[in-house]
Amino acid sequence: MVVRLLGVPYDAHSSFLRGAADAPTAVRSALDCGSANWCTESGVDLGPLNGSAWTDLGDLTIPDGAENARDTISSAVAEVIADGSRVVSVGGDHFVTWPIVQAVSAVHDDLTIVHFDAHPDLYDELDGDRYSHACPFARIMEEGRVARLLQFGIRTITPHQRQQADRFGVEVHEFRDWDGRIPELAGPVYISIDADALDPAFAPGVSHNEPGGMTTRQLLDSLRQIDAGEARVVGADVVEINPSRDVNDQTAMVGGKFVRELIGMMIDPQEGDA
Ligand code: MN
Ligand code: MN
Repeated sequence: MVVRLLGVPYDAHSSFLRGAADAPTAVRSALDCGSANWCTESGVDLGPLNGSAWTDLGDLTIPDGAENARDTISSAVAEVIADGSRVVSVGGDHFVTWPIVQAVSAVHDDLTIVHFDAHPDLYDELDGDRYSHACPFARIMEEGRVARLLQFGIRTITPHQRQQADRFGVEVHEFRDWDGRIPELAGPVYISIDADALDPAFAPGVSHNEPGGMTTRQLLDSLRQIDAGEARVVGADVVEINPSRDVNDQTAMVGGKFVRELIGMMIDPQEGDA
């Protein structure tokens, strides 16, 4: 399957700080900066496959206004995946995962979502905003098209969100109790990476620095476990990178690394021969 990289520059539903709309540019710069190459850790060189097995579609143009933004993102992703392509999106606050998953779950029944985050993002509403970046997984679970939601890296969960997790049957793996393993998964899987799943030491460029988080290696090892199992990764996003808070482009580099590994997991290198 061909993989499409898509920038989603939209952060109107950030509850604390704007800035995640600038992430697509920052992450692309990190990927292109010349200090690294395009090889994944499994040894796939994505460089020569650019334009065949995967392509960069650039950034979406997204108007202001919640309803429009949601529908714009959802229809754009639906259009991209209509031919069987898979999307890796980068940028935006976590709101964007809702419309992306709307499109992906319309094509893939029994979708499992693996969600890395300091926060469960299950609020019914935050500050009166049901589109808040603190709410996407409540909206997704309400729509009922997703079979399983597993969360990792979670280290701040309010009583309300604990109730919401119970209500929706969310498999919350609180980080303080996590044994480093991703359970065996089957069928189509969507991966959503909020950069604040990582400890601020590894990813300072986020709007919500929550100490005590994952190492970059723990997250990469999690991806590797998913890749080694039976599941098929059919879509992924990297969200909540806020370049205005970054230090030495460190978080943009980490985001670029995740993008590279995700493309590598989803790509069919044979497409490069076509
Ligand atoms: Mn989040
Ligand atoms: Mn978060």
